[in-house]
This record gives sequence, structure tokens and C-alpha cells, in this order.
Amino acid sequence: MFRHGSLNTCGYKPICRGRSTKAARRGEVCVSWNLHFFIWWFFRWGVRYRARYVLAGGLEVVEDGVVEVDDAGRVVGVGRYTGGVAADLGAVVLMPMLTNAHVHVLDAVLMDRDDLYIDDLVGWPHGVKYHVVRQLVRRGRHISVLRRVAERMRMYGVGCAVVYAEYAARDVEEVFRQYGIEAVVFQEAHGDFPNYPNVQVASPLDHPPEYLRELRRRYRLLSTHVSETADCHEGGDLDLALRVMDADVLIHLVHLTPEEAAQIPPGKTVVVNPRANAYFVGRVAPVPHLLHLKPLLGTDNVFMNEPDPWAEMKFLHAYAAAAGWQLAERDILAMAALWPWEKLRCNPPIETGQPLRALAVAAPYAGDKIYKYLVKRVSHRDLIAVIKGDRVEAL
Ligand SMILES: [Zn+2]
Repeated sequence: MFRHGSLNTCGYKPICRGRSTKAARRGEVCVSWNLHFFIWWFFRWGVRYRARYVLAGGLEVVEDGVVEVDDAGRVVGVGRYTGGVAADLGAVVLMPMLTNAHVHVLDAVLMDRDDLYIDDLVGWPHGVKYHVVRQLVRRGRHISVLRRVAERMRMYGVGCAVVYAEYAARDVEEVFRQYGIEAVVFQEAHGDFPNYPNVQVASPLDHPPEYLRELRRRYRLLSTHVSETADCHEGGDLDLALRVMDADVLIHLVHLTPEEAAQIPPGKTVVVNPRANAYFVGRVAPVPHLLHLKPLLGTDNVFMNEPDPWAEMKFLHAYAAAAGWQLAERDILAMAALWPWEKLRCNPPIETGQPLRALAVAAPYAGDKIYKYLVKRVSHRDLIAVIKGDRVEAL
């Protein structure tokens, strides 16, 4: 149960604290107890992790926190450290893994070909993206592309990805699973009925209403882009998505009015992609008007943006300040680290009864503004380890 190969020990002295030591700079996680003693103890009693901060439950900050895990990898207790044996992770924030809630992964093959008008690039069916990705999959060369993208997303601490697959949804799911990333994949429907449980359409305006209704009847989860451009908004894509398609997951919502945002039922999942929207269409979805829906955060096309939620949080934080939005850092963090669980069961919170899937983030000088530190300063270079039950995997 205790795979010591991924956990380095440092004898009896607690020499590793965050990234301030040589060992930590090498990306290793050190603990302050003798390995053999650990193995014996944890084999009998499960594991206890101690961290300077734990973001427990709804991201409540527990200072000098401890998380106890049973031998099945489930959390059996979270609270302040009051003594006893614990694997001391040092000056870190122990927090839920991140979710990238909207990402096109196969278009990585078009890396940085973002110099055309949006419809010419990604519009179905004649956009460059469709032509190139279709050829890639036909030739069977998409697996190596998927592996490279999944590896980078793992490096960013992504534990769950909500992926739009233009083609080959099952391959996307399988490759991401191999890299330890749970993937909620939507196979794109092109007027046909794909053999996959979840489907998406690039826009509900692309298809007749009877086809959209048939998709609803046949599939488990439905998703679509909505009002990314002014043209789509004026064409009534929100109404089609809600009242005809009855889609579960709505992406973008850039041009929504406050009244339209208020009409979206609370059971729907909405995802915003600030960097992609700023770059492609020159504005960002009205996040403050969507907060009642607990919006999620995506990075959109890999050919245009790194699939890195830390970068997305930083951009949204700066954009919110420029736009004069009152958007709390805790809410921005929740978009990537809490609300995906509430909406799509992506990445459990650190709370009793849930499997432990956590990130150890170095916090050498976090001060007392933990949310601001995480949203505004942290990058993937600060990620020390992914902790899954009794396994500590160095990043
Ligand atoms: Zn998209």
C-alpha cells in the first residue's frame, strides 16, 4: 500500500520545507521520519499528512493542518495538527487538484496557427482545425499528440479535464487516464449519432432543431459553445441550447446580458475561458453575472493557449481588476478547485469520506492571504507533488 519509491525520506531531521532546499528544488518531497518506521506504521494505521495550510471542504483554510487517510485512500479526518505521527509536507498548501473545464486537445497539432479569423480557424465544418485534425486521426498520429498534451496538463496539477474531442473521444479518454487525469470527454456530433455517451456541437445554430432534440433523447451529457461571438448571440444560440437542446454544459457565454444570465437554470454547468475570449473576440464573459451558477474555468484550444489553469486564474484576476469587477480570489480559485466537483464530480474536495487527490503547493512566503497567493502568484513551478491516498507522486 505504501509506495516508498515515490517518496523520499531525509533521515530523522525535517530538512525539507517547501522549495527552499536542494532536495525540494529537485522536485522531491521529503518527510521527517525514518522510512522503515513509516512503512510499518502506515501499514497498520493508514497515513496522516501534515501541512502548513490545508484547504479543507469548501476551501476553508486550516493552518497547521493534518489530513488522515485510511488504507483505502479515503479521508477519515481533517483538522488542526495537535500531535502524533504525521508525514510532514512542510511549508505547503495542501489543496484539491485543479480542473480544466474546457479544452480542445487534438488541435495541439496546429500549434500557434492562430492568425486567421475565428470562423476560418475553428468554425465547423470548413475551419482549418477540422481539416487538419481529421487527417491527423485518419493517419493514426493523434495518440502521440494526446500524450504530449496530457503530460503537460499533469504537470499543471490538472486532475480532471472536460475535453471537446472533434474526433476519437475514446482515445482521448484512454490516454488521459494513462496520465492519471480523469477526462469527461464530449465527442463532437457532425449531423450523425456518435457511439459515445457524451456529445457536443460546435454551435446549436449549425443544426436543425429536430436533430438537437434527438441528441437530447440519445445521450447522457450534452454540451455546446454559446454566444462566443456577437453573431451567434444575435442568432439566438442561447435559446436553442437551453430550450431545444437542453444542454448540460454551456461554454463561453461572452455576449450574455445580465437578464439572460439570470435565466439559466441553476442545474446547468457553465464554463468561461477568459484568455481565449480576450484573444479571439476581445471581451470576457460577464463572470460576476454568472456567479450564482458557480462557473468553471477552461483554457479552450491548446493550439492557442497552454492548458494551464494557473495561467487562466491569473489572467482572470488581472482582467477583473481592470474591468472593476468585485471578484473574490476565493471565487476564482473555486472555479478551478471546488465548483467542478459540485457541478461535474471532478476532483473531490479534501473532506471526510472522499478519496484524497490533492496538490502540495510550495508556500514559502504565503502570508495570511492564501487565496490571493494561490490565484495571483503560484505557477506550476510551485507544485511539489500530487498526493493520491497513500501515494506521493513528485511533480
Ligand atoms: Zn471551445
